[in-house]
Amino acid sequence: MKILKFGGTSVGNAQRFKGVAGIIGKAGKNLVVLSAMSGTTNTLAEIAGYLYNRNLEGARDTIAALEKKYLNVINDLYAKEASKEKARAYVQAIFRELVSYTKELFGDVQERLVLAQGELLSSYLLATYLEEQGVNVKLLPALSFMRIDAQGEPDMDFIRLSLTKLLEEEADVYLTQGYICVNAREEVDNLKRGGSDYTACIVGAAIGAEEIQIWTDIDGMHNNDPRMVENTSAVRHLHFDEAAELAYFGAKILHPTCITPARYANVPVRLLNTMEPEAPGTLIDNNQDSGSIKAVAAKDNIVAIKIKSSRMLMAHGFLRRVFEIFESYRTSIDMICTSEVGVSLTIDDTRYLSEIVHDLKKYGTVTVDLDMCIICVVGDMCWTNCGYESRVMSALKDIPVRMVSYGGSNYNISILVREEDKAATLRSLSQKLFGE
Ligand code: ADP
Ligand code: ASP
Ligand code: MG
Repeated sequence: MKILKFGGTSVGNAQRFKGVAGIIGKAGKNLVVLSAMSGTTNTLAEIAGYLYNRNLEGARDTIAALEKKYLNVINDLYAKEASKEKARAYVQAIFRELVSYTKELFGDVQERLVLAQGELLSSYLLATYLEEQGVNVKLLPALSFMRIDAQGEPDMDFIRLSLTKLLEEEADVYLTQGYICVNAREEVDNLKRGGSDYTACIVGAAIGAEEIQIWTDIDGMHNNDPRMVENTSAVRHLHFDEAAELAYFGAKILHPTCITPARYANVPVRLLNTMEPEAPGTLIDNNQDSGSIKAVAAKDNIVAIKIKSSRMLMAHGFLRRVFEIFESYRTSIDMICTSEVGVSLTIDDTRYLSEIVHDLKKYGTVTVDLDMCIICVVGDMCWTNCGYESRVMSALKDIPVRMVSYGGSNYNISILVREEDKAATLRSLSQKLFGE
């Protein structure tokens, strides 16, 4: 069995629902994980904000506008009056429940209930559409099997057992909600924003699926940022580690932590494009292609900090003392480079920057560079290969480079440049690495 996850971008309107149903119909007996329609989770968060602040008028207006949107989708989506009526009854009941929160005390528990409605709505609409098309679809309530423990981690045993039981009942297609779950206190909870990808990977790992497909509105993971560089292309194959490096450094389609369950269960993940269902997409698995550079990604708003001290020379414990300062302010370090008399490192969380700098001054002269950008080149960067570093460095010959980090893993080389040089760096790397 395969897991097919469709994001909000794939179910933005009635037409898109039909497209998704077409893809599901062709794929065979699989388990579909669905997000909320695009924009819905944001609107639900906005409604929760109004309810927290007791702005009841704001809440009612926003609820009414969202309900109207769903009623319009129902009108456009179904051919039969009976399907329209069935879907309308479900949608109206949900919106009545949302309105009822204006009459109650509103807190954390209620907020999570509000946020859960988007996936319940979209999955019911899709199930009803598939039924109308004559598909024997079984809607599996995520709240009956997606459980997280007190640490917020998925309870894999519970998920496996409950899902296996639910899958015993015959169906052409199984359908469930992404993102929503039940926590250790038996309350409705969620897997945080973008959590449907995580649901798909947890479910795929739990049942040992053949493949986890993440369907979105662009063609796989790109070899560079399509918003900054022309002629980017999709990367056809990535190792899980390469995908994680890219996701962290800004290739937004898949969050790095969400693929962890798939990776450990050794279930391949494939990124596919709803707008071009026949395109091969990007396959992510535990195999490494030797000898190739895969992609470049960038992360902005980076701060570089340099600590220079002659006391560092031959001293032990210097780095530990430096790192402890960052730890005490719960600030994580991304890149690091050292020389005999200095260390440079980067952070992206600047909340405690002035406190950190103040404390670091005990150990040396501190310099801070703001508005920096990490550019990360991903691929087979095993140190025994020759020539890859020099190709990367030769692309940077006209660009001021603040730091270079190589050898930390087998998969990447990171370069720190000024944010204003980001576009030029990405273009030059693209030309040198993929254009020749
Ligand atoms: P979905 O609803 O399918 O889960 P998301 O909301 O998670 O989709 O976001 C995917 C979107 O992110 C795509 O529409 C894509 O245009 C956009 N995107 C943002 N940054 C990048 C990037 N660096 N590379 C590719 N796509 C990106
Ligand atoms: N609907 C949720 C969100 O927008 C989960 C998801 O789409 O992945 O974050
Ligand atoms: Mg997403």
